[in-house]
Amino acid sequence: MTIQQNNQLTENHDYSKLSVNRSCFDEWIVPTYAPADFVLVKGQGSELFDQEGKHYIDFAGGIAVNALGHAHPELVKTLTEQAQNVWHLANGYTNEPVLRLAKQLIDNTFAEKVFFCNSGAEANEAALKLARKYALDKFGESANKSEIVAFKNAFHGRTLFTVTAGGQPKYSHDFAPLPTGIHHSPYNDLASAEALIGEKTCAVIVEPIQGEGGVIPADPGFLAGLRQLCDKYDAILIYDEVQTGVGRAGKLYAYMHGDVIPDILTTAKGLGGGFPIGAMLTTDKIGKSFGVGSHGTTYGGNPLATAVAGKVISLINQPELLQGVIAKHELFRKGLESINQKYNIFNAIRGQGLLIGAELKGKFTDNAKDIITHANREGVLVLMAGPNVLRFAPSLIIPDELIIEGLKRLEKTIGILV
Ligand SMILES: *Cc1c(COP(=O)(O)O)cnc(C)c1O
Repeated sequence: MTIQQNNQLTENHDYSKLSVNRSCFDEWIVPTYAPADFVLVKGQGSELFDQEGKHYIDFAGGIAVNALGHAHPELVKTLTEQAQNVWHLANGYTNEPVLRLAKQLIDNTFAEKVFFCNSGAEANEAALKLARKYALDKFGESANKSEIVAFKNAFHGRTLFTVTAGGQPKYSHDFAPLPTGIHHSPYNDLASAEALIGEKTCAVIVEPIQGEGGVIPADPGFLAGLRQLCDKYDAILIYDEVQTGVGRAGKLYAYMHGDVIPDILTTAKGLGGGFPIGAMLTTDKIGKSFGVGSHGTTYGGNPLATAVAGKVISLINQPELLQGVIAKHELFRKGLESINQKYNIFNAIRGQGLLIGAELKGKFTDNAKDIITHANREGVLVLMAGPNVLRFAPSLIIPDELIIEGLKRLEKTIGILV
């Protein structure tokens, strides 16, 4: 359907009135995605409606992004109030929301310095660049301290550097030549990591729970072992908390569950609750290596994004809310276990807080996509994490009744498919 053929288009070419539907996606958008066959138009909390008025319960949360659901009144208020003041200035001028958010992140984490950007990939790109720059500044060019150790099955974003650091070659090999000096060890295999980490290593990048890779938590001791190796070889330990951060795992950041403190932490997804923003947190000592002009991005620290993120953090970093995340985890787990008792389709149910994975088995092996498509028809949005894992990453404040109702819809779906 072309614009000319579209008789809904008003005389004055008001594209906001253009009648659109799912088939327009295939016509106009580069086919990197294959979205569901309906278009969502309205969200409230953890409920969504499509163009036909059909109701959905949202267990996807915009892929662990809508940490406070859709159209949270305080976020709407913060965003619209800021919109009436100043939307954007770029980095020749600082602004109040960015300064407040920086202080808020510093006061509530290990960090002493913050760099703002717009996405998870950018936060990781900044982290990896900073690690190389820091090693260069500290040890000089002759040390060749530029190697990065990462993990198989990891996901760090889609820029060329971060997709190469990610541990799924299928996402990177078509874009060769790739950045060099990145080595991958199996996740949770400390001995293999130890064999790769040495004097030439400038950084180790790891997810405390592999999200896209199948919701796989780090084994106890694995992260502590990486910390020790980084200390031994003067390498920077980078935690990619793009998915696990901002309350998702039941603490403000997942590292707070253990004793290990990273040197750099990246955060995005939930940070803006749906408004695009990313950040890289680090120490004074390491942050110094990003001197004036060494790195940047036009929108980094944008006042709309940072105002919203500040409100997101204040609402989420509350003991009651974080305890609620743990309680809702249990509710989910019980519901999934009861589905499993009935249909015996899950190999494992794992994860932390409201990042939950259910690994499929038997008839459903590698069929997550199919289950999700049918679950949509029953009115519940679910994610996958690879072809064999159903993933749940709903709003951190999803009401218990909606968890129960959504799981009923999922159970019905499975009942139809078995
Ligand atoms: C989603 C994700 C990213 C990439 O974030 P974008 O905002 O899509 O660039 C990086 N790391 C992890 C762990 C993620 O889950």
